[in-house]
Amino acid sequence: MASRSWLKQEALEVIYELSDLYDLQINRIRLGAGRSATVVTASCCSKEPPNCCPKCGAVRSLRGHGRKITIFRDVPHATGTGVGIQVDRARFRCVNCGMTSLAPVAHMDQKFRMTERMVERICMEAVQRPFSAIASDYAIDEKTVRRIAKDRIPCIIGRVRPVDS
Ligand SMILES: [Zn+2]
Repeated sequence: MASRSWLKQEALEVIYELSDLYDLQINRIRLGAGRSATVVTASCCSKEPPNCCPKCGAVRSLRGHGRKITIFRDVPHATGTGVGIQVDRARFRCVNCGMTSLAPVAHMDQKFRMTERMVERICMEAVQRPFSAIASDYAIDEKTVRRIAKDRIPCIIGRVRPVDS
């Protein structure tokens, strides 16, 4: 029984930490411990298709074309366990250009497949700590930390040489 109430508490903490991501509808939380990540299954609250095609710009040209799940990383929760958010997204096909596109997801950085808050946190830490230490704490590749730093804080690469490179 003790472990069950502990789990409940842990789930509540995860839900609390996800509350900033208000445009996501949380469907399920599978708690992980240690290196096995907590997996959150979610969908977008806003169901309307974008007004125009992101590829060619044609207005009202998008038609439903199935669904796709994208996994975004989120900041680890208090215990250090990684968090992955699986977002079920609508896919569209443009009747003008024939290209497919996915429904945009609020709070997410599409380029790095992470929450925006995780990218921001990595940027903040990248000016203070070796990239390898950040990579290890967030269970991501050091190259990813480097790419984020290069992309978001270009001056850091030329001016400060990270300790580990
Ligand atoms: Zn198009």
